[in-house]
Amino acid sequence: MANNITLPPNLQDKIHTDDEAIKAASTDYGRIITQNPVAVLFPSSVEDLKTLIGFSFNSSVPYTVAAKGRGHSIHGGAMATNGVVVEMTSLSKNDSNRIVIGGDKASGFYADVGGEQLWIDVLNATLQKGLTSVSWTDYLYLTVGGTLSNAGISGETHLKGPQINNVYELDVVTGKGELLTCSKQANSELFYAVLGGLGQFGIITRARIVLQPAKAKVKWIRMLYTDFDTFSKDQETLMAVNERSSGEILNFLEGQLLMDPNSLDFYPREDRPRIAYLIKQYGILYVLETASYYDDSTKHSVDKKLHQLFKSFSYLSDIYSKNVTYVEFLDRVHTGELVLHENGLWDVPHPWLNLFTPKSGIQAFNNGVFKKILLKQNFTASTFLVYPMYRNKWDDNMSAVIPDEEIFYTTEFLLSSGFNNWQVFDNINKEILEFCDKAGIKVKKYLGYHDSKEEWINHFGSKWKTFQDRKNQFDPKMILSPGQKIFN
Ligand code: FAD
Repeated sequence: MANNITLPPNLQDKIHTDDEAIKAASTDYGRIITQNPVAVLFPSSVEDLKTLIGFSFNSSVPYTVAAKGRGHSIHGGAMATNGVVVEMTSLSKNDSNRIVIGGDKASGFYADVGGEQLWIDVLNATLQKGLTSVSWTDYLYLTVGGTLSNAGISGETHLKGPQINNVYELDVVTGKGELLTCSKQANSELFYAVLGGLGQFGIITRARIVLQPAKAKVKWIRMLYTDFDTFSKDQETLMAVNERSSGEILNFLEGQLLMDPNSLDFYPREDRPRIAYLIKQYGILYVLETASYYDDSTKHSVDKKLHQLFKSFSYLSDIYSKNVTYVEFLDRVHTGELVLHENGLWDVPHPWLNLFTPKSGIQAFNNGVFKKILLKQNFTASTFLVYPMYRNKWDDNMSAVIPDEEIFYTTEFLLSSGFNNWQVFDNINKEILEFCDKAGIKVKKYLGYHDSKEEWINHFGSKWKTFQDRKNQFDPKMILSPGQKIFN
């Protein structure tokens, strides 16, 4: 018995209520809000999850339960005020067999991975068999269950779709405490609900991930632009060429804003003063970023094909490129993480704003947001991403919400603040959203939070009724992921 809730007696040994466990479960990467659970479960088997949720479901006073992957949410999505947080990574502590590779060349390879697994571990395990996932996130120290509850996007999404589109099958413990296997063929309603479902319908305990053969090396390229329209036109051209050739030339396409003359590590030392001067002159440079994966057999043709591809493009004078290993490329954000840790800048508040912006509004977005709102500020250690993707690479049956246009951009404001001034940064986010509202740009929040149920209903739009019906079907007592504040 903790506070007013009664917890399953047979899980006593695995339920922690000490300060250390509570504190760790009461905060997240955002460091903006703190919410204490009454207890934290360190499960050693899927059975423990069934017991925890089933006990709540059958109780006259149900308690809430939040799966916590790495807690890399921003606004408390993996928290459970007065409920129970499940430290998912505990599942693999005594079981080293939670990444299993199967399939064959003819029918396709896959990996069965625990929902608590980190993508970096999936990468390392699959590479041992010469295989790799087809769709990644920029940062790999996130759990499979955590990213599949959102979408999982990066520079591969324009071609392969988000991570949620590259899953064959899931095992899920629903809000009734039942363990179900689901796919497009079996229990499909649960499958579609859970993918992008913000943890509302069940806890993913296993995901069968699509794999493909891995290449050893990566040609990593950046090109600079001063003009947004030219930059985005070239991005869209690349996306279209890539689509036509099924990704024969490029595997990855992103873009970012370059506003900080002190963040030029990627570029040759001798060019940095010139780039810094351009930043001073234009305020913002737009960086078109691509990556092509290759191996010995394709080594020579890559350069030739890229040269041909970029020859009509209007970037500023140079193509900056590096040849790195596949792992170095995919794990690039972690390298930056280690530096931030060293400087005490990782565990600071992160008032992030991630938006999907429809193509029809992207020029106005550049003029009103990048060129006006952002340029007023002086940011350090912050990243701003902008790159396009196709709507038809997403499956509309899934819970994830995207704009209603064929092409939309992810526009990400990955702000790092000092400990006491995150509200100032959050006000910038509000200003951005107000601008979009006034300009009629119908953005959708990704990884988002909303202050009220009305805002969530507005977010889901035509998907709301299905989302609500699925909640009633799979978690009728509103037990799961209360920190998203959709139903609780
Ligand atoms: P948590 O924050 O622990 O949980 C997120 C939500 O999912 C919660 O509601 C939780 O209850 C639920 N949940 C967790 N595990 C499960 C499970 N097994 N089953 C069901 N529900 C579950 N996202 C991208 O798409 N692309 C990126 O490139 C990217 N880069 C990032 C870089 C950094 C540095 C950070 C901090 C985040 C990044 N993200 C990115 C966002 C990331 O996908 C989300 O924050 C995701 O939720 C993090 O996963 P997590 O394992 O920490 O989940």
